[in-house]
Amino acid sequence: MSRYDPDCIFCKIAAGHIPATVVYRNDYVMAFRDLNPVGPTHVLIIPLEHIASLSQLSEGDELIAGHILMAARTVAEKTGVLESGYRLVFNNGRDALQSVGHIHAHLIGGKSMAWPPFAGQPIGHG
Ligand code: 5GP
Ligand code: ZN
Repeated sequence: MSRYDPDCIFCKIAAGHIPATVVYRNDYVMAFRDLNPVGPTHVLIIPLEHIASLSQLSEGDELIAGHILMAARTVAEKTGVLESGYRLVFNNGRDALQSVGHIHAHLIGGKSMAWPPFAGQPIGHG
């Protein structure tokens, strides 16, 4: 039985109930353009099944998890950033500002990026 959350926006996109600009899809994952891109290339890669966050991955999800990374490579090639470089970001949980509770990798590229994420801020401890 595949996991589906009727209240989840990415489940609705995976089911085709909400439109998206699809870049890639296979039996495990799909990739579509972010609605509010932060760079020239900004694609979200999601599992077709509802898994709320990386923290919710469980035994048996290895194939899905692997397909997310393999799809990222395919998306990078399709969007022309395979050679120039790209960043793959999973925001996971509150501190990371995850706003949609369905695993998604942001593939961002097409522009030179800054690093690290805490530039100019005290690191502190926590
Ligand atoms: P998060 O903040 O959870 O890491 O990222 C969620 C991302 O989903 C954001 O970059 C946001 O722009 C994108 N997003 C939210 N709703 C939609 C939608 O309905 N369609 C698309 N294509 N992207 C969405
Ligand atoms: Zn979902």
